Amino acid sequence: MLRRIVLAVLGVAVCGAASMAQTGMPPAPKVSDVRLYVLDCGIIISHQPERFGVTDADVPDPNFSDPCFLVVHPKGMLLYDTGLIDAQVGRPIYENKLGYEGQLKTVTLKGELANIGVTPAMITYLAISHSHWDHVGNANDYAGSTWLARKAERDVMFGPNANATARNWYSALAQSKTQYIEGDHDVFGDGKVVLLSTPGHTPGHQSLYVKLARTGGVVVSGDLYHYTAEKTLGRMPQREQSLETPASRKKVDAFMVRTGAQLWIGHAIDWYQNAVKAPGWYD
Ligand SMILES: [Zn+2]
Repeated sequence: MLRRIVLAVLGVAVCGAASMAQTGMPPAPKVSDVRLYVLDCGIIISHQPERFGVTDADVPDPNFSDPCFLVVHPKGMLLYDTGLIDAQVGRPIYENKLGYEGQLKTVTLKGELANIGVTPAMITYLAISHSHWDHVGNANDYAGSTWLARKAERDVMFGPNANATARNWYSALAQSKTQYIEGDHDVFGDGKVVLLSTPGHTPGHQSLYVKLARTGGVVVSGDLYHYTAEKTLGRMPQREQSLETPASRKKVDAFMVRTGAQLWIGHAIDWYQNAVKAPGWYD
């Protein structure tokens, strides 16, 4: 009996090795509690801190990191943001210029996911912080996931004023299985992964709260903030002062006091350079 079990275990091990050799991928992460990955989705070459209500003297680095985030939960996976488009990898920055900013892309999101054993087909839910070009670059690759969408943002995305370039990058979401969400949405029903409604930067902007066993609670800001100095000095883009951004920031401040969560500002290079990046993770 024991021999049979040993053989069975060996058989599984051999099968596992064979499938890894075939795909070249490590096994998909299996978790008993929530895990959060920070994925390299590009760097934005920018030098206009004044657009965000701060100055050169306030910021250690005027450029922006542009990470994507993968939450692995026992009940499924959530991808939050899809970054700069993978097609820009290896292209010079001057070719990748969009509006005010250049884009530097050294690895693909698909490759970042493959490194941790994840394919687009494994991702249960897609959510974007908002629909600006630096957050939707590869959205079409994840159109097979269930899109957790806010109507106000979807209306912008498929309305007449949508950015034409960005629209090409997310156009397939129009056919995605779409679950409309409102307010703060508890993704897996246990309070550990919550999409926080934080409108202002765009009408359907949302931040992401993840409750991690060892790290504690984390709020991924999306573009509720861009620079750390916006938080420490109480600044924001001028156009947002009369929108819902001040109320959304107050709401998140209260949420963080209540939950003890820390704030991660994805675009802030001073945060990003010290973050644990995939294939490492937070749990
Ligand atoms: Zn952004």
